[in-house]
Amino acid sequence: MAEFLDLEAQDGVRMPWNVFPGTKQETTHCVVPVSAIYTVLKPFANMPVLPYPPLRCRTCRSILNPFCIVDYLVKIWICPFCFQRNHFPPHYASISEDNLPAELFAQYTTIEYETSTDKSTVPPVFLFVVDTCIIEEELGYLKTALSQAIDLLPDKSLVGFITFGTYVHVHELGSGLIPKTYVFRGSKEISKDQILEQMNFFAKRPKPSAGVIAGVRDGLSAESIRRFLLPASDCEFALNSVLEELQKDPWPVPADQRATRCTSTALSVAASLLGACVPGSGARIMTFIGGPSTEGAAAIVSKSLSEPIRSHKDLDKDSAPYYIKAVKFYEGLSKQLVNQGHVLDLFACALDQVGVAELKVAVERTGGLVVLAESFGHSVFKDSLKRIFQSSDYDLSLSFNGIFEVSCSKDIRVQGVLGPCASLEKKGPLCSETVVGQGNTSAWKMCGLDKATTLCLVFEIVKKETPEPIGPSTSNQFYLQFLTYYQHTNGQMRLRATTLARRWVDGPGSIQELIAGFDQEAAAVVMARLVSFKMESETEFDPIRWLDRSLIRLCARFGDYQKDSPSSFSLSPRLSIFPQLMFHLRRSQFVQVFNNSPDETANFRMILNRENVANSVVMIQPSLISYSFHLGPEPVLLDVAAIAADRILLLDAYFTVVVFHGMTIAQWRNAGYQNQKEHEVFAQLLGAPRDDAELILTERFPVPRMVICDQHGSQARFLLAKLNPSTTYSSSSASLGGDVIFTDDVSFEVFLDHLQRLAVQQ
Ligand SMILES: [Zn+2]
Repeated sequence: MAEFLDLEAQDGVRMPWNVFPGTKQETTHCVVPVSAIYTVLKPFANMPVLPYPPLRCRTCRSILNPFCIVDYLVKIWICPFCFQRNHFPPHYASISEDNLPAELFAQYTTIEYETSTDKSTVPPVFLFVVDTCIIEEELGYLKTALSQAIDLLPDKSLVGFITFGTYVHVHELGSGLIPKTYVFRGSKEISKDQILEQMNFFAKRPKPSAGVIAGVRDGLSAESIRRFLLPASDCEFALNSVLEELQKDPWPVPADQRATRCTSTALSVAASLLGACVPGSGARIMTFIGGPSTEGAAAIVSKSLSEPIRSHKDLDKDSAPYYIKAVKFYEGLSKQLVNQGHVLDLFACALDQVGVAELKVAVERTGGLVVLAESFGHSVFKDSLKRIFQSSDYDLSLSFNGIFEVSCSKDIRVQGVLGPCASLEKKGPLCSETVVGQGNTSAWKMCGLDKATTLCLVFEIVKKETPEPIGPSTSNQFYLQFLTYYQHTNGQMRLRATTLARRWVDGPGSIQELIAGFDQEAAAVVMARLVSFKMESETEFDPIRWLDRSLIRLCARFGDYQKDSPSSFSLSPRLSIFPQLMFHLRRSQFVQVFNNSPDETANFRMILNRENVANSVVMIQPSLISYSFHLGPEPVLLDVAAIAADRILLLDAYFTVVVFHGMTIAQWRNAGYQNQKEHEVFAQLLGAPRDDAELILTERFPVPRMVICDQHGSQARFLLAKLNPSTTYSSSSASLGGDVIFTDDVSFEVFLDHLQRLAVQQ
């Protein structure tokens, strides 16, 4: 494990297979795909940022790196990807073994270049899009949160403001003393040209002829743009007065109906406004939604309250008439935003569903952030929003305008990327015919990315025959290079290059080497992203069956056993926790979707798809820590047996953090022992899990939901739902003070039994 963490600390990469299977056939036997989980902008304290452009191979365009073979005498470097010999340019003339440029240092496999010397930085744009079909109380919370956010905006950043309900209102912040808004009907689809016309962009100059409308920016004067997008420092007053006067949508809503809420029309207007004003420069549409969309091209439900919002069952049975149309609309919107280089962020705060499932495609492909909470007054929303703008150790380091590219050695192809990005449709010999996620390309757009953004690249090994025996002339190395061009938070354009070398193995003895290079946590995370993707994209896909079959095949291939003897079965420590991770993945929110709404599932999956391995593992298998008088905080098994009357448990399920007091502890607390001097130790015991929970909340985005509860209390379900049902109503071993879970789930012991029995039969 430790060496995999070291590799991650150097390059931000974790791979299920750190030794590659050498042939296509061998890869199939490995079950878990050859893949890489890459935290694109992981911060590294000692990473050099070079003030000059990189040297590129003249054939394949990959970048000079520590794995290149260099001939110092004739000043030539050999590209490890295509074996092209490249001459060093004159300014590298002094290069020698003792005088290496930083990009050739063995430890700098990840390095950054400042790609342009242009110091003029384009300020980021924040366009707020705010739902007004919400009750006064919610509107009050939202106004407070927004006005705090506006205070925290960087002074130079440009700000715009749109509100929507029955109609869309575009606020002209630069209109001086008289507040001015442009109103669009919510039920009507509006083209970019119509919007521009209505907003009078061309009022002072002849309208460009139809032929050049694509380059419409040329028709816009800086003043036109400044009417809608103003530097934060110049429009604070205007923004605050718009906020103060913000009213609930005035149109009457009959008692048996939902409000007329035209979310998609508002987003379309927002996208077109940004497309007209700031195409190609970093901008985010920050959307605040308090209820379901019922009007416009992407309504998710009708206005009649007698019709319920689609559930997973409806989606499964294909009986969600609005869903497909809405998703199609947002696919179109995501294409527009990706073209423009703009991000869509979503803050959905309602007890009801609002359409996160439909919006997912646009948020994820543009690298947007998503926060789902019950109310605009909830800390999950308020603290998360603050975190976006606050600069501290825990800020997100929002970056813009990323392009991600991959180079690989010749026998590797890219099937695609699972994660927050969009294919740039750069087809070539590198692309596999099998497509996973955003595929058929070797370049991806990342409109929004930050220091947490983590992609999962899925590869294919194409070599069909056994590779030639390893001799002096051939090498058994595979190389990968990840290049990320992006606009750093300081405004400058940068290029990060990560170059990796991995060995391939084949033939007898290769199994032991493959096992030695197996990172089971990374493997579980790849399987989690893959199963989520398949559940969304393949009809009739049975996730449990697929996961079980994969696990059985993996164990049959890499386990130690005598055929047909389950008791002889064992796994190397490299694989030993993998079955447990798969057991929890089967029970997780990613697979057991029927316990949640489609909006919640979409939210969970978007966050899984952008997080690193350590965080994703917590989402799959929550961590449980026990606090008691006898023993300090200690990790315990995620099992119902962990519950005891005199213990406090801290469950970190990533999206929810639960502090659970055993019965006796709760009684003492209710009696106020913690306030008595002689029970100081109890006060400390009571405080420790709370402090540890607070620490988790400070570091995580979105801020998780915190639940504090007692044994047998109604909120205890947040803990119980995550525990292994080792003690169920059918077994008689309910220990004293423990709990019994009523469930039809199989326990881990039963699961493992089945696994061993089936693996040895393969
Ligand atoms: Zn090359």
